[in-house]
Amino acid sequence: MPRRYYLWNIGCQMNRADAYRLSEELEKRGYQPTNQPEAADLVVLNTCVVRQGAEDKVIGRLSSLSSLKRRGRELALLVMGCFVDDIPTLEAHYPYVDAFFKPSDIAGLVQFVAHWEAEQGECAAPGQSFAPPKVSELVPISYGCDHHCTYCIVTLRRGRQHSRPLAEIVAEAHRLVERGAREIMLLGQNVDAYGSDLPDHPTLADILRAIHNIEGLWRIRFLTSHPKDMTPEIIEAAATLPKVCECWELPVQSGDDALLRRMARGYTVSHFRDLVRRIRERIPRSAINTDIIVGFPGEMEEQFEHTLRLVQETRFDVVHVAAYSVRPGTAASAWEDDVSLEEKERRRALIESAQTRIAAEINAAHLGQEVEVLVDGKQKGRWRGRTRTNKLVFFESTENWLGRLAQVRVTRTGPWSMLGTVPASINCPT
Ligand code: SAM
Repeated sequence: MPRRYYLWNIGCQMNRADAYRLSEELEKRGYQPTNQPEAADLVVLNTCVVRQGAEDKVIGRLSSLSSLKRRGRELALLVMGCFVDDIPTLEAHYPYVDAFFKPSDIAGLVQFVAHWEAEQGECAAPGQSFAPPKVSELVPISYGCDHHCTYCIVTLRRGRQHSRPLAEIVAEAHRLVERGAREIMLLGQNVDAYGSDLPDHPTLADILRAIHNIEGLWRIRFLTSHPKDMTPEIIEAAATLPKVCECWELPVQSGDDALLRRMARGYTVSHFRDLVRRIRERIPRSAINTDIIVGFPGEMEEQFEHTLRLVQETRFDVVHVAAYSVRPGTAASAWEDDVSLEEKERRRALIESAQTRIAAEINAAHLGQEVEVLVDGKQKGRWRGRTRTNKLVFFESTENWLGRLAQVRVTRTGPWSMLGTVPASINCPT
């Protein structure tokens, strides 16, 4: 019987990238995935604590899995990710967990698995090649973040910024494209500051230019940007390199200067507006997505209205809105969490409904037009893909479109996706 692993993952894109790489490593060692923890030899939780709700899910998952260990099975239960802070304290709290690993410590986890197998007197059986290549691949370019946003626990858990060498990133992108990837998404907590911690200070623009030359790569994306660190060089690279998609992840967090100061974001609302204007002037069809926190300590109704106004004026393509949640160890945790849950929920709902209307209008403008869609899979019998601006598009076809570019004529739109038809298959670029 092959050994089996169960991997539970929540949280950001970085966690998704870590989970994928971990699966790859485990499958190389001969493990096969299962979605039933009871059937697994290895259970791994890759965790997130960005908000209390995420942390509660991790704790719930941990307690539900404790019974597996109590049944006395030969099973290793491992926990990785931002839940892992003070390891001795966690070991005391969760004695049934075999080992804890800091965020992205895939090497440490795989080393543990090798020792665990050896203790059980088993050699790793080299596995079959890993699951089919994905059309869009995530490539971390930096870990951690040097900012100290007063609400954010991620910096505390993931540590200071640590950029990967440019050559290593380019080599990985080459390997993924050779394996079949057509889109590379460059990842970091703050991709705009990439390289500031490396000797020659390479920049995100340098990565964009270097991977743009890879034959067979069609699209390049990057996230997350920081409004304070976005440079004219990055905007220029995005404007002049055709493979770089015109889609920006620019978390604003608040539309009020006093709140931005207390969040320690390092920019003002007018700086943000100006940045959006410069991006749209240089790359007119740009989609701009953002993150917003409502109910930050001390947020007055009038300050919230500034944020709502910014949403209405900017007409973002996507807004991820979160109710503020106190995170231990952050500067803001010392301040009174004085906006009630109901009020946070009301503000969140107001932003969401404004954004739903805006997103519906933006998508409706595509009706009858042709959009270029990179097809990454099937959902409920329809082909699914994304435009260069990262909009979700579905269409029906009996042809195999996986990993191809389709010119889809949009026939129906809603706030979250579009539906269309493909007139004919086109030749894919090489
Ligand atoms: N690096 C990005 C940035 O510049 O903010 C994103 C980091 S964070 C992992 C992802 C999002 O979670 C943030 O943009 C923020 O909106 C939200 N978030 C972080 N801490 C939060 C908190 N304490 N309460 C509610 N939302 C939070």
